[in-house]
Amino acid sequence: MRFEGKTALVTGAAGGIGQAIVRGLRAEGARVAVTDRDTGGIEAEAHFDGDLLDGAFCDALPGRVADALCGVDILCNNAGVITRGDITTASDADYALTMGVNVEAPFRIARAAIPIMAAAGGGAIVNTASCWGLQPGPNHPLYVMSKAAIASLTECLGRDHAHQGIRVNAVCPNEVNTSMLRTGFAVRGLDPDQAIATLNASVPLGRIAEPDDIADVILFLASDAARYMCGALVPVNGGKPVV
Ligand code: NAD
Repeated sequence: MRFEGKTALVTGAAGGIGQAIVRGLRAEGARVAVTDRDTGGIEAEAHFDGDLLDGAFCDALPGRVADALCGVDILCNNAGVITRGDITTASDADYALTMGVNVEAPFRIARAAIPIMAAAGGGAIVNTASCWGLQPGPNHPLYVMSKAAIASLTECLGRDHAHQGIRVNAVCPNEVNTSMLRTGFAVRGLDPDQAIATLNASVPLGRIAEPDDIADVILFLASDAARYMCGALVPVNGGKPVV
């Protein structure tokens, strides 16, 4: 019960990795507030449905969670969107969406959460970045740029707020079996199950990640076992480097 007595906020809580984070935190004693566009059906102690593109919603969220749960010890900035295609196909709307969800929302939520954590004597923030935030993959410049930005923000905040007992770290997954990956195959006319079987063969460990493989590392970074980690970008990739 690593999270007994702790409170947590998880964004993207209705998604593949988000649901695994919420289940894991609650199974180990945390009281969890969930946010997504629709959190109906997600078991949690508090629900805040909303759009992360709404700056005022993001700014207010940590305070609302603290009021509901009496604190925010753990923040998992996990929500994300992926926009595909090279830069010549990227619209202004694609840019605003990708940067809005993947960068501006975690910026706003962390900015509001840190003073609450500091006043309570500390906390842990875990961002879901990507292996593509460490090294670019092909033909996704907006997504890659956004994940590099959240990786950089993680390193900055990890350094700036360690003195307040606030640890900020990130996981950097490669492929994970969630709707984000599967819809990409479907868009390209591929059968997701067949495409994943092919992808599995490219991973040294023999399979792409399941959401729990990523959530377990997020929980570790949120826990006291990671008490000396600040600003770390942790690859979780089954041994597969970025191609
Ligand atoms: P997912 O699509 O299952 O979950 C993403 C969640 O974010 C969804 O529930 C979605 O509703 C929510 N979200 C998106 N835009 C939102 C908005 N404007 N307002 C509120 N909520 C919004 O995908 P996932 O794989 O679980 O993604 C979780 C994180 O993992 C993301 O940051 C993603 O970039 C990252 N990641 C995923 C993979 C992968 O292969 N699946 C690889 C590396 C990193």
